[in-house]
Amino acid sequence: MVSESKEANISDNMEILRIPDDVAADIKEVDDDIVTKALVCETTKKPFLVIKSELDFYRKMKLPIPIEHPWQRMQERTRLEHSIWLYSFICPQCRQKLYTVYTPEEQDNIDILCESCYLRKLA
Ligand SMILES: [Zn+2]
Repeated sequence: MVSESKEANISDNMEILRIPDDVAADIKEVDDDIVTKALVCETTKKPFLVIKSELDFYRKMKLPIPIEHPWQRMQERTRLEHSIWLYSFICPQCRQKLYTVYTPEEQDNIDILCESCYLRKLA
């Protein structure tokens, strides 16, 4: 989702910081005034802000300033979660135990078959 549209809380006269060039990789070298500046996401090129409580958190946890827009981070996290979290299910036709990205709650609302039963059903 690449868009040039501006975030509501980012004003025209804000100083723009390019990541990674304008932002120190070490959180100890990041100044307090970063919260008054707009950061440009490396991936989406969308500007975003780091708020004071976020900055405090990164300092406490010794984490670098994020290089991506929060939406992009959220998308990435969702993608990772789906590739990591697998739930077991039993194919209702052959009773084979398998794994799926669907949670047990989601499984209640959809019919999931193992691949061979699914292909047999399609044939
Ligand atoms: Zn099956």
